[in-house]
Amino acid sequence: MFNVTRRETTPESLDRKTWRGEDVAEALRCDFLDKCYLCESKEPLSFNVEHFDAHKGDEDKKYAWGNLFFACARCNNFKGADANVLDCTDPSIDVLKLIKHTPPVTPYSQNIGIEPMSNDPLGKS
Ligand SMILES: [Zn+2]
Repeated sequence: MFNVTRRETTPESLDRKTWRGEDVAEALRCDFLDKCYLCESKEPLSFNVEHFDAHKGDEDKKYAWGNLFFACARCNNFKGADANVLDCTDPSIDVLKLIKHTPPVTPYSQNIGIEPMSNDPLGKS
């Protein structure tokens, strides 16, 4: 996971109550460096505009720029509506220090280690 600095200007489509606009997708792609915020896949073949906090019909959450994230389709499907995930756009959370990644030992290894470095699941302490 990596920290994201989100632009302050809200894409115009959100003012028209759609989060599916091309301007929203392009703004997210740019701000998230064209990487899924969860698995860091670069230039994913299929990506979703993800609602970080599942909107569950809440109109404010559905069109809130700060609630929209760039995720690959696979991660968006795995995450689920009630997952506790670090908010990589929150400048008070240094996600790089909160997750330890251990790369594979050999090129043939299938395992990548991912460990939390904090007891707080949201990284606030
Ligand atoms: Zn992903």
